[in-house]
Amino acid sequence: MGIPIKVHITFLLILPIFALVFATNPQPYGFADIGSPVMTYGLSLLTTILLFVCVLLHELGHSYIAKGYGVEIKDITLMLLGGVSSMEEIPREPSHEFKMAFAGPLVSLIIGFVLLGINIAIASSVPSYNTTWVYLMVNILATINIVLAIFNLIPAFPMDGGRILRSIFARKMSYIKATHYAASVGKMFAFLMALVGVVSNLWLLLIAFFVYMGASEEDKSTTVTVSLEKYMVSDIMSEDVISVQPEMTVEELSHFMFENKHLGYPVIKGNSLKGIVTFTDIRNVLPHERYAVLVSDVMTTDVVTLPSSASAAEAFRIMTINNIGRILVMDNDNVKGILSRTDLMRSLMLLNE
Ligand code: ZN
Repeated sequence: MGIPIKVHITFLLILPIFALVFATNPQPYGFADIGSPVMTYGLSLLTTILLFVCVLLHELGHSYIAKGYGVEIKDITLMLLGGVSSMEEIPREPSHEFKMAFAGPLVSLIIGFVLLGINIAIASSVPSYNTTWVYLMVNILATINIVLAIFNLIPAFPMDGGRILRSIFARKMSYIKATHYAASVGKMFAFLMALVGVVSNLWLLLIAFFVYMGASEEDKSTTVTVSLEKYMVSDIMSEDVISVQPEMTVEELSHFMFENKHLGYPVIKGNSLKGIVTFTDIRNVLPHERYAVLVSDVMTTDVVTLPSSASAAEAFRIMTINNIGRILVMDNDNVKGILSRTDLMRSLMLLNE
């Protein structure tokens, strides 16, 4: 599908942990009593890898539907708590979001029941099949896929069920309100989970915390995005752009910054943009080098720009994804203005008031 698949560093941690769990669990959910240690650990590792292939297929289920609706998928990352698809935007059309959110758990359910069916079919015709390692592995994968599907259908952000719930609410009310209600249901679930967790299982308490944070995060970020969507970059950008020359020394630039009180400037030579230089770029230059190092040596040449007609929400998203503090606004190679995170935050504050 043309989607890069990445592995997060925390994934390397979860791989041996899962393998160890399978290796120490007895039948029917582990290989502790299957035979030699090599066999036990080998099968456990193989099962863990196959399990994450299933998680990946779950994510690809979401991606497949999303791509069909024209949503750009940046990548899929496998990490500690499963997989994450980073999408450029979540479809706002309720029926699209519903199908997209449901696709993942559906893939897990199909894998789970197909594997379960295969095991039952073979076990009924081949005697003593249910004592073999193949049976065990298929059984473990089937069970976990079904549990994964059910867990993801819990109607709470950040699980898929939270999105499904929002898409159902969004048919009858605004997107912000629907998100708010869905997040409230998620928080309620988190409280219930925490209560049960305190008296039974501390892991549940941890998951409850994770669900609560996910729900409030989704609520906040949706409010920000939807409020900013009504505005264009040109509405909130600063129009008088102060630029600097690439031949300026870092020493000169630091004085310039102090006088002008901005922390980032486009670097312009003649009429063309060469890069952007910020406080972060010069703070690591050693004091005795400040007279020799030029702006062109430390500036970022890969400048993120947006046209003035882009939406403010788009600018916010790009700043967040790239973790940058300002975006240069350009129309046909001409610098029109600069939009900083501070500009965005001030506008948001005023909009909320
Ligand atoms: Zn999912």
